[in-house]
Amino acid sequence: MKSAEIRDAFLKFFESKGHQIVASSSLVPHEDPTLLFTNAGMNQFKDVFLGFDKRPYSRATTSQKCVRAGGKHNDLENVGYTARHHTFFEMLGNFSFGDYFKRDAIAYAWELLTEVFKLPKDKLWVTVYAEDDEAFEIWTREVGVPAERVIRIGDNKGARYASDNFWMMGDTGPCGPCTEIFYDHGEHIWGGPPGSPEEDGDRYIEIWNNVFMQFNRDEQGVMHPLPRPSVDTGMGLERIAAVLQGVHANYEIDLFQVLIQAAYREVGGENSGADLDSPSLKVLADHIRACSFLVADGVIPGNEGRGYVLRRIIRRAIRHGYKLGARAAFFHRMVPDLVGEMGRAYPELKDGERRITDVLRQEEERFFATLENGMAIVEAELAAMEAAGKTVFDGNTAFKLHDTYGFPLDLTADICRERGVIVDAVAFDAAMARQKEQARAAGKFKMAANLDYDGPETTFHGYELLEEKGNILALYKDS
Ligand code: ATP
Ligand code: MG
Ligand code: MG
Ligand code: MG
Repeated sequence: MKSAEIRDAFLKFFESKGHQIVASSSLVPHEDPTLLFTNAGMNQFKDVFLGFDKRPYSRATTSQKCVRAGGKHNDLENVGYTARHHTFFEMLGNFSFGDYFKRDAIAYAWELLTEVFKLPKDKLWVTVYAEDDEAFEIWTREVGVPAERVIRIGDNKGARYASDNFWMMGDTGPCGPCTEIFYDHGEHIWGGPPGSPEEDGDRYIEIWNNVFMQFNRDEQGVMHPLPRPSVDTGMGLERIAAVLQGVHANYEIDLFQVLIQAAYREVGGENSGADLDSPSLKVLADHIRACSFLVADGVIPGNEGRGYVLRRIIRRAIRHGYKLGARAAFFHRMVPDLVGEMGRAYPELKDGERRITDVLRQEEERFFATLENGMAIVEAELAAMEAAGKTVFDGNTAFKLHDTYGFPLDLTADICRERGVIVDAVAFDAAMARQKEQARAAGKFKMAANLDYDGPETTFHGYELLEEKGNILALYKDS
């Protein structure tokens, strides 16, 4: 089954179970300041779960565009390193707004997987929230999954890879215990079942999460029961496509193969430093989707907020192209390939093709103007570090790269990671703070000297960056 057919089959299945097919919402959650980008199918129904909004249906099904590159769910650093994470992906979901609950949700999921998609039952593993005896009983007694394949998992807050069976969209909002379905890709792949010490391998891949929405978490962390218990599920289209197409990694599915070929072509094909297995090609295939869909939904590269996340993704992509030999704008030329694959399901891509191409090309041209010189500095620093036996990349140099050459901190960190070293993000921060202080002092001086100065006020835009830095540090602590 091709990805497009799987998407249709999912929606049709839930339509046959009385669900209204609802279109994907924008990647930019205009009405929700708690959210950077849409990160799950349930986002557009948040107020319905909370009881603030009513819809003419109590069951819905969607294929939702999601981006996880910032905020609570951030997978940017996983792309190119795991078989299963993207920045942009499609989440297939079914939702009950105070209609059915655990029993039916589980029964639907099992029916779709084993009867429609015909997955072998003995390859499926299940996790339930540690205290959720009801879900455990439904899986073992009613559905008949052997108890040794139904694993109880708590809320492992803070753990990076460990399963977490209490789902939250962000720090506040609707949340609840969940049950997840995993597919065993076979013993030739490293990894252990969920909850085991080897679970961060990619043998057992989580395909579907069924969340039993029961609470609204407030700013103090207090859980308030929702007016009506509800269901929110999410299955990554790319992950179920990998299973159904008999491949392991998402990057091996039909759609990604086309994009990887396109990336290969654009970095110079046989004349490039790439072979078709290069992680950088996967990164490019991933990033062209995130970048194009974000531009289609109105985000443009910039220095703050959402625009800065987009800029960082584009620049990371360009640097990966550079690594494979690209020396001039190339990334935007992958847009037609993407439109060919996904333009039918998402007309905004087709309608926006010209604009997306132009926005990406401009950002590329801008970054290519400083990339080569910036890379020379990075290489010189890395060489000096190697000679001196150092493993921490100087934070002031990272700041200079950021300030003068347009290298976001995470881009420098991405290069460093490939070389097995880390960036001194603390020193980077200090350099950034020093510069802000100088700019502020200079602004004050200007104001004093010229009383009718009406330039822009200095505001702090470091939020995203700090968050990302936290992520980078955590990442290196792990490995
Ligand atoms: P993982 O543990 O693999 O990171 P998750 O538990 O963070 O996944 P959920 O928040 O439960 O994911 O999202 C529901 C489903 O969406 C997942 O079961 C998976 O199929 C899919 N999914 C989540 N994150 C990604 C991603 N970055 N790329 C592709 N699919 C994803
Ligand atoms: Mg995750
Ligand atoms: Mg998970
Ligand atoms: Mg999950």
